[in-house]
Amino acid sequence: MASAYGEYEPVIGLEVHAQLLTRTKLFCGCKTSFGDPPNTHVCPVCLGLPGALPVLNGEAVRLAVRAALALGCTIQDESVFARKNYFYPDLPKGYQISQYDRPFSLHGVLVLQMPKDGDSKGKAADAAAETYERRARILRIHMEEDAGKNLHGVGSSSIVDLNRAGTPLIEIVGEPDLRGAAEAGEYLRKLREVLMFIGVNDGNLEQGSFRCDANVSVRKVGEERLGTRTELKNINSFRFVEEAIDVEIRRQIAELEAGRKIRQQTRGYNSDKRESYLLRDKENDAGYRYFPEPDLPLLTLSSVFVDGVRASLPELPSARRAHYVETLGLTAYAASVLTGHPQIAAFFEETIRLGADATKAANFVQAEVLRDVEQRGLEARFPVTPTQVRELLGLVEAGTISGKQAKEVYAKMRGTSDAPADIVASAGMAVMSDTSAIEAIAKRLIEANPKQVTSYRGGKTNLLGFFVGQMMKETKGSADPAIVNEILKRLLGEGS
Ligand code: ADP
Ligand code: MG
Ligand code: ZN
Repeated sequence: MASAYGEYEPVIGLEVHAQLLTRTKLFCGCKTSFGDPPNTHVCPVCLGLPGALPVLNGEAVRLAVRAALALGCTIQDESVFARKNYFYPDLPKGYQISQYDRPFSLHGVLVLQMPKDGDSKGKAADAAAETYERRARILRIHMEEDAGKNLHGVGSSSIVDLNRAGTPLIEIVGEPDLRGAAEAGEYLRKLREVLMFIGVNDGNLEQGSFRCDANVSVRKVGEERLGTRTELKNINSFRFVEEAIDVEIRRQIAELEAGRKIRQQTRGYNSDKRESYLLRDKENDAGYRYFPEPDLPLLTLSSVFVDGVRASLPELPSARRAHYVETLGLTAYAASVLTGHPQIAAFFEETIRLGADATKAANFVQAEVLRDVEQRGLEARFPVTPTQVRELLGLVEAGTISGKQAKEVYAKMRGTSDAPADIVASAGMAVMSDTSAIEAIAKRLIEANPKQVTSYRGGKTNLLGFFVGQMMKETKGSADPAIVNEILKRLLGEGS
């Protein structure tokens, strides 16, 4: 198969760190919080003071298991926490508690639908477009604690903020199954979506609660053996991940074409220069001197516990999309938009649970409501309630207002708790479908425009549009157009 990179094929494996949405840290009672003054959520355990002992946070375990199950991983009955030793100013203990050779879960998969034309945006996956499936396997998921943060340029100095030290994370290690930047981007979007839907992670890339390292290598098309990889560190936007991967693939190909070898390195990405740059030659595992954490017991997860977590999982976004298309009759595009955020899916589903027609509700939510939704992580603020949307669509269905008027009512309703029927009543907006009232106005218009009437009756029937326009002006757009047409045709036709 020809590749976008000529005779080379890119190979990518992603490592994702996702913060678990617990109230407290992984091994102590300190609050997990973002943006508080530095070093206000610290204690002897997360400061690594001598003699302090870690105690595992049960809620973190529950969320980690939830994520692993949602991603199709097998949960291990027994797993082991391990010390990963390294020195860095933001790591006061001198080691990170992680899991190493016995993680709590193994072997999951994320199924990606990729457009064949190579459009990387993953947005308008409309029903007609050809797609192929990429099964991106997950090698393992393990639990670990986050490090603190070095803040530079605080006055004339740098400080270490340990509020984040000890925050619970899962690391999701993907197999090298991805074959290009677009697949990597889609993998990340899908992964983030799943974690958000199950309430495990808030998907906030800017605040670092969802971050990714991308391992990139290239090989000749048809070659089995993997090339030497480099690892791109902590790129905090989807756009830049895809860009950085593409840039790194091209750099490696250029190196190989120049007859040089790829060195196993950790690299950063400069988005202004569109260049990756060397951070360090990669350390290997031996450098970390992993050994089992002596202060924590073996982690045992009973099948009763695991089954309980499994039973509490909600329907996942992919299953929801299938349901929207197959049962509710939405387009694939509408389904993907409406499952783009758990709160949006919940809003839409509540609207139809209240009795709205699925297609009409989907159209209205996409065309109007989504414009005004404010998303922040797992939270989303809506301008109206599902009840208001349901009632508004009900008024259109009953013929009380037109579709065009519904948009006006919506504009007035936004940000209020007003019932749409009240807005319609107080603005005098209801569709005029009272035939005698419409007929009276039509008669008046015909009398007031004798010239046009004569022309119409003389054969210029396209003047009907003129009369319809006049009617709509008179009734401020509230007359039922079908009735208007019928009455005008009849009255104008009478004298000819
Ligand atoms: P480390 O922590 O040293 O980076 P891990 O085993 O945790 O090692 O992660 C290795 C990651 O690198 C995995 O996501 C894997 O898919 C990816 N990977 C391994 N070999 C290659 C390769 N040749 N090309 C691209 N990605 C690779
Ligand atoms: Mg790595
Ligand atoms: Zn603490």
